[in-house]
Parts: sequence; structure tokens; C-alpha cells
Amino acid sequence: MNDCLFCKIINGEIPSKKVFENDKVYAFYDIAPQAPVHVVIVPKTHIASANEITAENSSAVADIYTAIPEIAKILGVSETGYRIVNNCGKDAGQTVFHIHFHLMGGDVGGKMY
Ligand code: AMP
Ligand code: ZN
Repeated sequence: MNDCLFCKIINGEIPSKKVFENDKVYAFYDIAPQAPVHVVIVPKTHIASANEITAENSSAVADIYTAIPEIAKILGVSETGYRIVNNCGKDAGQTVFHIHFHLMGGDVGGKMY
């Protein structure tokens, strides 16, 4: 994907503050944090949004969730807790169309629903 912000972050064209990386997943600090701990987790393959998940590419989601416990440990929120958020599409406020999961910790206001 030539014009995707997160593809450019993954390939190093745009700088980021890396938190974690393996062969499938990249995680970096959000540039405009909405919580004391706010990290964006992306699959290295370009998938635009949750709308584009299929049986063929859904392992990318499992790869993210497999990495989450390690990322939470690095961030020091494993025991205190954290929220994982995926925004899909306009009504949910998605601004970058490379699927991503926000990991938010610290004071995140308790339960959201
Ligand atoms: P969403 O609004 O759910 O699509 O999430 C996109 C997130 O990417 C927002 O929280 C932005 O603050 C974040 N973001 C945008 N550009 C950058 C960047 N260059 N580095 C880190 N985070 C970014
Ligand atoms: Zn992308």
C-alpha cells in the first residue's frame, strides 16, 4: 500500500516510537495519546479495517492478540489492566485505514458500556 500512513510507519519511512515488533506485528506510541498509556498495534500486512477481515487474512487479528500480553507487560499494565479498542469506519471515528488496535492503560475511566 503506497499511500498508507501505517504502512509507512511499519517500513520506517515515517518515524515512530516503537514499543514492540515481531515478524507479523508492530506497536508504537500514539502521537496524540488519549490515555496515560496509549499504544497503536498494527499487523504488518495492509488490511484497511475490520470490514476487510476474511477467513484468509483473519490470522492477522490472532497475531495482534497473541502479541498483546507481551506488549502489556512491556508497558507495565498487565496487572493494572487496559482496554483494547478497534474503530471501524466513519461512525466509529476511524481516521487511518490500516486496521489497528489501541491499547489504552492507566486511568481509562473504568467500564465503557
Ligand atoms: P483511529 O482514529 O482509530 O483511526 O486511530 C488512528 C490513531 O493514529 C489516532 O489515535 C492518531 O492519534 C494516531 N496517529 C496518527 N498519526 C500517527 C503517527 N504519525 N504516529 C503515531 N500515531 C499516529
Ligand atoms: Zn497500510
